[in-house]
Amino acid sequence: MVQAPPALEIRNLHKRYGDLEVLKGISLTARDGDVISILGSSGSGKSTFLRCINLLENPNEGEILVAGEQLKLKQGKSGELVAADAAQINRMRSKLGFVFQNFNLWPHMSVLDNIIEAPRRVLGQSKAEAIEAAEALLAKVGIADKRHVYPNQLSGGQQQRAAIARTLAMQPKVILFDEPTSALDPEMVQEVLNVIRALAEEGRTMLLVTHEMNFAKQVSSEVVFLHQGLVEEQGTPEQVFDNPRSARCKQFMSSNR
Ligand code: ADP
Ligand code: MG
Repeated sequence: MVQAPPALEIRNLHKRYGDLEVLKGISLTARDGDVISILGSSGSGKSTFLRCINLLENPNEGEILVAGEQLKLKQGKSGELVAADAAQINRMRSKLGFVFQNFNLWPHMSVLDNIIEAPRRVLGQSKAEAIEAAEALLAKVGIADKRHVYPNQLSGGQQQRAAIARTLAMQPKVILFDEPTSALDPEMVQEVLNVIRALAEEGRTMLLVTHEMNFAKQVSSEVVFLHQGLVEEQGTPEQVFDNPRSARCKQFMSSNR
């Protein structure tokens, strides 16, 4: 039997900001349905890693494959790798959903317009088709009644759920979450985690940077602990949370629960 290629494969990713080497060779494979939590202290390179995967930041070295298709990269100025094929990077970006810490909804558009914009423009959906899909997604994240309001009329938790609906509307192959609950008031964290948990349960492939340790332990198929730009420890939630081998990871676990 031929095995399907991984949903996402990252090989030997390096990123420098000037003299600071933030990522020193990170590799990671996400197969369909994997939920991989990425943990690490502030400044360990978690956001940089996620942002390099869809070229929100340009890595200096490394390979990125989405569903077996390798992203074509070329040497840009100042030693960074840039997309070599504009059509390909647009196509690949649409397969990599990104959920930001600060939601990044478009403030001048209603919730519904935020969600239908990219599917119409990038996927070529008709307006009716995009609206139908968006309404189903809003119901799924529990804010069906908010479709005509603007982001600033929503609570943080509702904004993040709208942002997740917007990401899902692009039918991504993999969803990258960068601390999706860290900008939220404590009482809103759970409603967003519940949405992410439901996505995990339906078999979505996800990379999740989070400080919600209990949640990460419950939903992850794999946990990766980054330290100073390298994978310091990696394994099942039980291994990494309950039996960390490295001293750094042990220390991190004991100071974060
Ligand atoms: P994390 O998300 O794990 O907190 P980041 O990936 O944001 O860490 O940052 C890793 C390191 O890279 C930090 O030392 C940070 O200061 C540095 N860094 C991040 N973005 C930039 C940038 N645009 N220019 C210079 N340094 C940066
Ligand atoms: Mg970060």
